[in-house]
Amino acid sequence: CQYFRITYARSWWFSMSLTIGVLSIQGDVQENLLSTKSAFDELGIDGTITDVKTPDEISQLDGLIIPGGESTTIGQLSLVNGSLKVLKEKIDSGMPVLGICAGMIMLSNTANDRVVGKTDQPLLDILDITLERNSFGRQRESFETEISMDSINIPKFNGVFIRAPSVSDVGSDIEILAKYNDKIVAIKKGNVIGTAFHPELVEDVSLHKYFVNLVSSLKN
Ligand code: GLN
Repeated sequence: CQYFRITYARSWWFSMSLTIGVLSIQGDVQENLLSTKSAFDELGIDGTITDVKTPDEISQLDGLIIPGGESTTIGQLSLVNGSLKVLKEKIDSGMPVLGICAGMIMLSNTANDRVVGKTDQPLLDILDITLERNSFGRQRESFETEISMDSINIPKFNGVFIRAPSVSDVGSDIEILAKYNDKIVAIKKGNVIGTAFHPELVEDVSLHKYFVNLVSSLKN
């Protein structure tokens, strides 16, 4: 069990301080902690970046990253430890969340595997989107490609796709941030962002900075 906490305490600025968590049930936790720290540094923002797992830890957050990994595992374990319910309540009531790959699958209301079809996995059912899991093939078919997210001022981003999903169907309230080869690979609705690719695996922390700014603007 990994434990990693970065705290910046400048007491005079404390009331503005942000607490951003990375769900540490399974997946790319450390990489997201480090990318969020770089985003804080580049933005000159104070706050706490912490890994979270329990309902109590989740309830303290201003913003949360659900990392990539294996959505069936993240779903099952968070159901068992009681976090799934708190995650849903917090996000439904406005807490900003960045769901990456498996994290985006967790945010959806329907997930189908490209090969095996419907999988009966616990989901947060937050966004009216249908996900096609493993949409671009297996681990060995992982790839990197340039992605544009013009509407959030990130015109060029190196998208790393690893057993990535795509969004095969969206409700009318969902903003499409990026497509690759006609497949939807990044979406947003208010406080919720989902990407099929892994922004924590590249040096450019633009997307983490965008998320930190979103958390900051919704807190104030
Ligand atoms: N294929 C994984 C899933 O369905 C997601 C892969 C990832 O997060 N990199 O959960």
